[in-house]
Amino acid sequence: MGAWPPVTHHSSLLIAMRTAEWYARHEWAVTPQEEAQLLRLIEAVAALRAARPSDLARLLRRYPRANGQFSKDQLVAAYHHFCETGQLRFDPDVLRRLQMKPTRTLSGVATVTVLTRPFPCPGACIFCPTDVRMPKSYLHDEPGAIRAEYHGFDPYLTTLSRLRALRNIGHATDKIELLILGGTWSYYPEDYQTWFVQRCLDALNGVESASLAEAQHVNETAAQRNVGLVIETRPDYIDVAEVGRLRRLGVTRVQLGAQSCDDRILELNQRGHTVEQTRQAIKLLRAAGFKIQLHWMPNLLGATPASDRVDYQRLWSDPGLRPDELKIYPNALVQEAELVQWYERGEFTPYTTDELIDLLADCKVMTPEYARLNRIVRDIPKDHIVAGSTASNLREVIQRQLSAEGRACRCIRCREVRGESARALGAVGAIEYETSGGRELFLNVNTDSGKLAGFLRLSFPTAEATTLTGIGELRGAAIVREVHVYGPVVELGQSGTGGKAQHSGLGAKLLREAEERARAAGYDRLAVISAIGTRHYYLKHGFQRGELYLIKALK
Ligand code: SF4
Ligand SMILES: [Zn+2]
Repeated sequence: MGAWPPVTHHSSLLIAMRTAEWYARHEWAVTPQEEAQLLRLIEAVAALRAARPSDLARLLRRYPRANGQFSKDQLVAAYHHFCETGQLRFDPDVLRRLQMKPTRTLSGVATVTVLTRPFPCPGACIFCPTDVRMPKSYLHDEPGAIRAEYHGFDPYLTTLSRLRALRNIGHATDKIELLILGGTWSYYPEDYQTWFVQRCLDALNGVESASLAEAQHVNETAAQRNVGLVIETRPDYIDVAEVGRLRRLGVTRVQLGAQSCDDRILELNQRGHTVEQTRQAIKLLRAAGFKIQLHWMPNLLGATPASDRVDYQRLWSDPGLRPDELKIYPNALVQEAELVQWYERGEFTPYTTDELIDLLADCKVMTPEYARLNRIVRDIPKDHIVAGSTASNLREVIQRQLSAEGRACRCIRCREVRGESARALGAVGAIEYETSGGRELFLNVNTDSGKLAGFLRLSFPTAEATTLTGIGELRGAAIVREVHVYGPVVELGQSGTGGKAQHSGLGAKLLREAEERARAAGYDRLAVISAIGTRHYYLKHGFQRGELYLIKALK
């Protein structure tokens, strides 16, 4: 399926043709009725006196297409078409209004999601959907999946089309986080992994490379840089060899399916690994500097809302767990999963929407400040769900419930500064916590309104944990695992405007603080796990190239 095994003569002409064809079908293939509707919609947008994102959203609802709303991609493509054909006069202001997309870029980096080709997964989890057209656990009609399938799971074409879509809706695309999803990454053949990452980078670079190393080298100074590379895998597939492999690919963040912190539940659901294996994977990954995102599933077979509350608390009370980020995937009973048989025998009951809301609200409140709760629901197309909640706006309902009760989630996502100007910034604060392999410092800076303007994750690993990784260059080093400064995506090298967080030199300030603290803690070196496209940033800040990390001597 798709372009695997790699076709070395994959001509760029063919790629260009397929790309053009895709755009012809997806962005500008509209019926005459839709074209007329688009014209009315754009005229209405142009007639607005002061345009806010909510106005655009309202107009998109007022002028729908046959099966839903027009996408902003389509609006922009249509506007160009109307201007080219003389039906409208080009006005950059109107284009800007059509491009309005207020939330997507706010965390400072644009994300491009790429799915791997269908491939078996070593897992046999009873809740996991099987769809032969898709990599394990994905349904063919989820948005990312439709796109991936259209492109024959070709990483180059998928990346290219996402970049173009981002630009069409007005995004800067100079800082790209690549999110590689699908089944168990570590189970794919290594040459497929290498080829896959190379082709994603080729798309960012705009030039073909002969090897992964070459693509990485070009990307270090490319116009569209990779500032984060994420894969998802199983805890029992993380070992010393895999950690080294991930680092060589340029991976910076690993999503691990933990699903539960209870061996009984893991076994009942045929997860095929234990909690201890999750702890070991986390210890190894953390000691090697990776950012760790866990997936956790409430409502698994054998769980109750009460047991799930206890289980959620374990994520944070167990020093062996304590992830940096978390995605909650409430178990959804989908027709493609084996779990349906348990349901039919009356041995499994999905939670009601109310039970789910109460549980997730409590989970939010239990989340510590150093963690980011990336999502609490998975958007599964309704027709797949056999029984249980199909509510699609759970996040908002939970948010409302929490405010009504005077409670709040203090996770990173809920405190991010989100585009507002950061006028006065406070001093660097630190949250410290123990892990199974050392001590963690979450260095953070807040705005005067109490929002999070930036943070840095600093690990003080024990010598034992460092030795475990087998990575010689980390010996005696404290590790910067993440530096994140909030603000809208602004193109690299552009000087800042206003007081937006990304331009206040906050990254440099956090790095200085990390250096001082590492020195004070007795470390003689500071290592940073750097994405390919951020290497030059650290080189500028006095770090030197190591083999897999950038290192600074602390004298
Ligand atoms: S490991 Fe993940 S992808 Fe594989 S069967 Fe289990 S849930 Fe599905
Ligand atoms: Zn939160």
